[in-house]
Amino acid sequence: MTTGRQLRLYNSLGRRMMDFVPSADVVGVYSCGPTVYSFPHLGNMRPYVFADTLRRALRWQGIPARHVVNITDVGHAVADSDTGEDKLEVAAARERRSVEEIAAFYTQAFFDDMTALNVLPADEYPRASEYVPQMIEFAARLEELGYTYLLPSGLYFDTSKSPGYGTLALLDLAGQREGARVEHVEGRKNKSDFALWRSEEPGVRRVMRWDSPWGWGAPGWHLECSVMSMSLLGAHFDIHTGGVDHRELHHVNEIAQSEAYLGDGRPWVRFWLHNEFLLLNNAKIAKSSGPVPRLADLTEAGYHPMAYRLFLLGGHYRSQLDFTTHAVDAAQATLRRLAGRVVALRPLPAAGSFAAARALLPPDDKAAAAYLDQLDAAIAADLATPKILAGLQESLRDADITTEGLGVVVAAADALLGLGLATLDPREIDRRRSLTDLDPAEIETIERLVADRTQARKEKDWARADEIRTALETLGVQVTDTPSGPTWDLC
Ligand code: AMP
Ligand code: ZN
Repeated sequence: MTTGRQLRLYNSLGRRMMDFVPSADVVGVYSCGPTVYSFPHLGNMRPYVFADTLRRALRWQGIPARHVVNITDVGHAVADSDTGEDKLEVAAARERRSVEEIAAFYTQAFFDDMTALNVLPADEYPRASEYVPQMIEFAARLEELGYTYLLPSGLYFDTSKSPGYGTLALLDLAGQREGARVEHVEGRKNKSDFALWRSEEPGVRRVMRWDSPWGWGAPGWHLECSVMSMSLLGAHFDIHTGGVDHRELHHVNEIAQSEAYLGDGRPWVRFWLHNEFLLLNNAKIAKSSGPVPRLADLTEAGYHPMAYRLFLLGGHYRSQLDFTTHAVDAAQATLRRLAGRVVALRPLPAAGSFAAARALLPPDDKAAAAYLDQLDAAIAADLATPKILAGLQESLRDADITTEGLGVVVAAADALLGLGLATLDPREIDRRRSLTDLDPAEIETIERLVADRTQARKEKDWARADEIRTALETLGVQVTDTPSGPTWDLC
């Protein structure tokens, strides 16, 4: 089979590994996007690097996908509550800027980080504020179907009318209705009921406000994802992703309202995938409890964004990952070693899918075929990126693999990891390095290149000698020819 192994994904719906078989020619993937009221922090990068791995896995298998990531620029209230202030309005007041300026500024900050981390752009980035009329229609339909009730604070979804409410979160119905939410809302029938529409309090005029059948106000937070995903991916689609916090509330409510709206008795989305949290020195990261590090802090401190990506991929997306300086230092050193080794293999072939990589393998290179198989097994087993990294590193140390075969393995691993190994310049990774930073493998590579260059010069193959000099320069190495032979140093 040339498409690779059967892809297996851990579905939060049912909490088990399942074969992923697309239900359409183009797989719809929706990822809950950022709330653009402040700089995204390092933890916020994890869901998108994880969704990016998923997309690379689909591409590896030759499965076309359409990816939507929403931008929440209205509706998300402080503490995920129904009655609190909108996060964007709070930020606008704090920074003395308009909500539009806040949204535009932090949306750009999010895109900048995505680009720096080599995350494949989504096909669509819908803004919640541009879908409010559709959200109103959606809520009106739910009202018509009898799923709602109106309170002075807004229009609420009655979760007792949703037969499977909370299945995703493994909630026992009665327990959820009583215990999960602490916020008190006057008149709410069940504690799990949530606002579809948040009406303005008398005398308090919201900054972002729309007229609706329930008066002036703003949409509830969960509504946007149901409305925008259905409008861009169709009523049913295959995969919905987000951070694990969403599994407990936001996604539970998205499912309840969407299945009520569709009323066709089918599960709305088939696969729900959730990434675990990034911790900071073993503590939970919370934007609300002060400044938390972001990607720019790392790059300013001399780390390459790809070192952070590599650090993330070094953990499985379903495991908690602890961010420490030590861990990111180690990732930077690994990245430097990888880039250093890969320079000599460039240009890398285009091995973005299993089929393409297989076709490029030299026929007799059993070692390369085995590594390719190892990569395929790893990605198919619920996106096991740590195993892909391990396979990549192993292949680079293997004496039995051909250079051509190694090029294919490296290109294939990189198509899955997205570290940009085809072009990553080792000199850009860490400008502060000195000779003592080089490890034996790097020194060996350099010595070999220097010897190859000497050989090429002996054979008067000047073109080859120049090529090797350029490769060495890319590694940050300067060669000087002396009467007693060439010497080298870091430049
Ligand atoms: P927000 O911008 O707060 O709406 O969050 C954007 C995404 O980041 C959501 O999918 C969250 O689940 C996720 N997220 C927030 N904090 C973390 C963290 N510390 N680790 C991993 N994911 C997180
Ligand atoms: Zn969402």
